[in-house]
Amino acid sequence: STHNERRPLVTLSQDVAERIAAGEVIERPVSVIKELIENALDAGAHEIRVEMRGGGLRLMRVTDDGCGIPADELERVYQRHTTSKIRSVDDLYQLHTLGFRGEALASIATIAEVTLLSRAIETEGEGVEEPAQWVMVRGGEVVQRGRRARPHGTTITVRDLFYNVPARLNFVRQSRTENGHVVQLIRRYAVGYPAVRFNLTIDEHTVLQAGGSGDLAVVLAELYHLPLQEMLHEVRVSDGEHYIVHGYVGNRVLAQGNRQYVTLFVNGRPVQVRSLQDALEQGYRGLLTRGKHPLLVLFLEVPPDEVDVNVHPAKIEVRLVRENEIMASLTQIVRSVLERSPASPEEVAFP
Ligand code: ADP
Ligand code: MG
Repeated sequence: STHNERRPLVTLSQDVAERIAAGEVIERPVSVIKELIENALDAGAHEIRVEMRGGGLRLMRVTDDGCGIPADELERVYQRHTTSKIRSVDDLYQLHTLGFRGEALASIATIAEVTLLSRAIETEGEGVEEPAQWVMVRGGEVVQRGRRARPHGTTITVRDLFYNVPARLNFVRQSRTENGHVVQLIRRYAVGYPAVRFNLTIDEHTVLQAGGSGDLAVVLAELYHLPLQEMLHEVRVSDGEHYIVHGYVGNRVLAQGNRQYVTLFVNGRPVQVRSLQDALEQGYRGLLTRGKHPLLVLFLEVPPDEVDVNVHPAKIEVRLVRENEIMASLTQIVRSVLERSPASPEEVAFP
């Protein structure tokens, strides 16, 4: 009865505004893992360990061996718009990191309990070994802090996700579903960063270990347990100036009933850009059984000022200056591989 009765304008309290903003970035448990993995990659980690308990609602923990956070900055990383990655709007057009908004940790800390333990890598010549420090924040407020020994790197533990956002909690599915999203996400990053060792533990069981050698074909074999070297075609195409596309295209033997094996990275970022996805599909249309998708891992590298990564809260969409040209190239790359590869009598299913 009151729904078209306008109420006076108010400015939302900071607490409400922050929880709403957090909801844009953190949709479900896997969103937290994505942000933490990207931070670890930005920190130059060689090894990233991910732990999930209770579908991520009970606990999520990401440990890296990256550069760490200096003790005097540890509390400030929880503040909104606090980042070590950009200084000005211009920096967005020469971005070499996955993060840039300085919002993820602030968002996560308003809707969960977050403990950040970090030890910064020693800067040469200083010679003072600082112990690792930790700070626990709940609902955006510091509740505890301390010191602990550990090698350089960072461990972030997130507990009780969405404890103060019951509406969002209703959208979180069974643990199995949420864990499944995390497995897919980690596979994607393992493929995107073959030089990094990834390790995933779910409810105390190691479910995934891959990468570290730098060889993408090895990572693919580790992830999918198939003699992929024979089934994958390596590609590298460049227009000599504005873009390079490289990676692997599986021949039709690898056709699969879902799109999760079609992965496209733009400047190291796994993206879901409709037009580019369509261009890839256009490449294998007519060559695969309808509704089937090949294994495709392609890396598109463009100059940082020819891509806008700031168009989506979770940064999974990007805009490209030379979109049409690149789309045509992607279609052509896939098509030429599939036309060359021998027709196969049957399709192999992935685990
Ligand atoms: P952004 O990644 O956009 O800068 P975040 O909120 O994700 O924003 O992180 C804020 C800052 O905290 C980062 O800019 C970085 O300085 C620091 N930080 C976060 N995670 C890590 C990590 N795993 N290793 C080192 N520094 C980190
Ligand atoms: Mg970040």
